[in-house]
Amino acid sequence: MAEVENLERRTGASVPVRVDVQLHDLLMKPKTGPTATPPLQPKSRSEESQALMLPEPVYPQHPLPEGVDFNERQYQNINTKRAFKCWALPFVKSRFRASELRPIIAYLFTEFKCNVDCHYCWSYNNDVKGMTEDMARRSIDWLESTGCRVLALMGGEPLLRPGFIHKVVYYAAKKGFYVYLPTNGRLMRPEVIDRVGDAGIGIVNLAIDCVEEKPGLPKALNRIRPYFDYLIKRQRHYGYTVMMNINITHINQDDVKELTEIARANGIATDYHLNEAPMFEQDHFKHLDDNTTYLTPDDFPKVDALLDYLIDKSRQGYKMANPQQHMHDMKKLMRGKVKPWPCRAGQNNLIIRPAGTLAPCFPMYSSTYDWGTVGDHKFDVHQLDEMKKTCSTTCLSTCNYILSHCYDTSRVIRWGLKQALHGFRGVSGHFED
Ligand code: SF4
Ligand code: SF4
Repeated sequence: MAEVENLERRTGASVPVRVDVQLHDLLMKPKTGPTATPPLQPKSRSEESQALMLPEPVYPQHPLPEGVDFNERQYQNINTKRAFKCWALPFVKSRFRASELRPIIAYLFTEFKCNVDCHYCWSYNNDVKGMTEDMARRSIDWLESTGCRVLALMGGEPLLRPGFIHKVVYYAAKKGFYVYLPTNGRLMRPEVIDRVGDAGIGIVNLAIDCVEEKPGLPKALNRIRPYFDYLIKRQRHYGYTVMMNINITHINQDDVKELTEIARANGIATDYHLNEAPMFEQDHFKHLDDNTTYLTPDDFPKVDALLDYLIDKSRQGYKMANPQQHMHDMKKLMRGKVKPWPCRAGQNNLIIRPAGTLAPCFPMYSSTYDWGTVGDHKFDVHQLDEMKKTCSTTCLSTCNYILSHCYDTSRVIRWGLKQALHGFRGVSGHFED
């Protein structure tokens, strides 16, 4: 436990960082590391000119004329159909092929650079080259062959290359993927919103931590307010949805409530994360020491009250992605450990790094363990199960927790019946009991 204790002492964080020495050595000092997927060797001139590129998007292609929006019923239908095709069907198929890799959601790191510096964030490094078109195309083709239909574009900040993202969204949406775009919103100009909306984006998840910018927390709503308003307004024209993603830190707890109300007033859902220190020490992360965003033991009562407030809002019908149990478990996580939970990383979700190497989840991004590459995965359920006995006690990855919560057939059937009873309208989108 020396590694854990050492890191805990340095951060002063309440989060027990995060893996023990044995697991750390397995994941950070493996005998053989992953090698980047080699570039495709074209066999002919035409393959060379076509196969390695994403097609140029047709723009505009959207069927509705400018100034006309979908009505409420059409908008609901679009999103219900998408949910059925991209979430429900792949989920059902994955249950029938339980021994295969069946990602329900895949995270494609098209970028690992970022245009801002959130002090808690180790998920960017401005020395890492962005994904190539060849790799993006091969990743999407491979994911399609595994039955995956939800593609989350990740960073860093994906919109650093808006033209590239337009191409990726266009290509994936044409193949029937539900495309999820998380962004800090700084580069989300109206013309960018129009292009990704026109290409068929499914959801934009706007990461916002505070209303006014604070030292260490640059993702402030007021820095991007005109873009936010335009993004909300254009939902009904293009049919996408919007969410707000909020990280609970030492310095933004009042903002969390204010942002929750702003999201509610704009009719969009929220999802919450508890600020966590990195899973491993990593050289590119510069804020491990004296980080003012990390929760400290003095925060516990206030964060407990904040989580109770959010749970209460969820009960009142505020749209939130987090299951209520997740928010209860966050209280345990900030004090130390949670009970192991049935994480599905490496089985029903995965990440693809810019060079095409695979890992089971976002917290394992920096691991050098070899889980294979695009088209040639090496996920092994026994290795994953062993690893999760340890890592799931110090991790509450929101996306993976939600997936594990949903990966429960009886819960899904109860939710489906509830939706059917309400004509697939007006019932919360999450799988609460
Ligand atoms: S915007 Fe996102 S990727 Fe960039 S520093 Fe902040 S949390 Fe990290
Ligand atoms: S619990 Fe799951 S998401 Fe969290 S680190 Fe372990 S494998 Fe990754």
